[in-house]
Amino acid sequence: MAEQDRAETGRVELLGLPAEEAERALAEHFNARGQRPYRVRQVRAWLYERDVLSFEEMTDLPTAERAALGERFALATPELVTTARSADGTAKHLWRMADGELVESVLIPAGDRLTLCMSSQAGCAMACVFCATGWSGYRRQLTTGEIVAQYRGSRRWARETAAGSITNLVFMGMGEPLMNRKAVFPALSLLNHSYGVGARRITVSTVGVVPGILELALRPEQFRLAVSLHAPNHELRQSIVPIERKHPIPELMAALREFEAAGGRRITFEYTMIEGVNDAPALAEELASLIGEFHAHVNLIPYNPIPGPDWRPSPPLRLRRFAEVLVERGIEATVREPRGRDIAAACGQLRAEHETKAPKPYLQLHRGDEGAAGSGAAD
Ligand code: SAH
Repeated sequence: MAEQDRAETGRVELLGLPAEEAERALAEHFNARGQRPYRVRQVRAWLYERDVLSFEEMTDLPTAERAALGERFALATPELVTTARSADGTAKHLWRMADGELVESVLIPAGDRLTLCMSSQAGCAMACVFCATGWSGYRRQLTTGEIVAQYRGSRRWARETAAGSITNLVFMGMGEPLMNRKAVFPALSLLNHSYGVGARRITVSTVGVVPGILELALRPEQFRLAVSLHAPNHELRQSIVPIERKHPIPELMAALREFEAAGGRRITFEYTMIEGVNDAPALAEELASLIGEFHAHVNLIPYNPIPGPDWRPSPPLRLRRFAEVLVERGIEATVREPRGRDIAAACGQLRAEHETKAPKPYLQLHRGDEGAAGSGAAD
């Protein structure tokens, strides 16, 4: 961790710094050592283009300069613990942070795209009933360096294994990105400005953290937004997604209006389809009325069963019917195929199999909610 590292060793964590700050710090460092300014450019290329894990790898720098960098700066380079490859080409990486926390990211090939699904927190505090990360509880925020490190490490791995170039980034791994804006927003800027990922190829997925949506709307870059909606009305949604009680649907919709007004960006709604819970055609009608005002796209994701709730994914016919209702009402909808199921890389599964601690007490709460959700929504 950056702060921890600084406190313990006095070194500055370089990968978490905004590009200008990193450059300034490097320029001062080299200047004080009587080195020419082009050294900054050399280091920049190693950091942002070649994804080195240590100063030692910066082979066009004199050995003494590499050592001096290592005394002054640190690189947040989580250790790659394992890689699991799915039959469908999906690759899941498990990273160990400096303090032992485990975080996962997933590379998903689809056509000419290679999408990296990244984590923003270790664990998650949002407690969505169908999400394995939600059940396992919250551990801590990831730092900017740790978030960016998932991209660097995955890009490096993809290069070494000839898996291709990463084209898209989605914050749909562990955690709620808009509950960690202090680290996620600088990471978004770094990924966009320094690592060269187009803003429109970066999607922040949120369960509906209204203040975060409003902040994202104000940013000059055109980052994309996905909203995990899962239900078209307050009663049903609050039984699936606890944040609905804090930021109910009307407040969420008002924030989305501001987001759209600020940049004209298309919003994606994610809707996890759970049999008999939220997949009735009448709910599709209700959803169409709710979001009809937006230039939106709906992703219907079949529920990926996790240990705990006794739920099943909506059967294909039911999914199709729901999608048809939306399309008939002029809303674009796609049924998503869960990827990487055989390696537990599908939605909501990340990290669960590595859990060692007992689940948090709100597990009990979920069990209560489950009944309410199950009884309230069938057609
Ligand atoms: N906290 C953010 C991002 C992480 S979850 C958010 O809520 O959007 C990424 C997506 O996976 C969300 O749409 C979430 O609802 C979905 N998801 C989580 N668990 C799932 C499961 N078991 N089956 C299907 N989709 C799931």
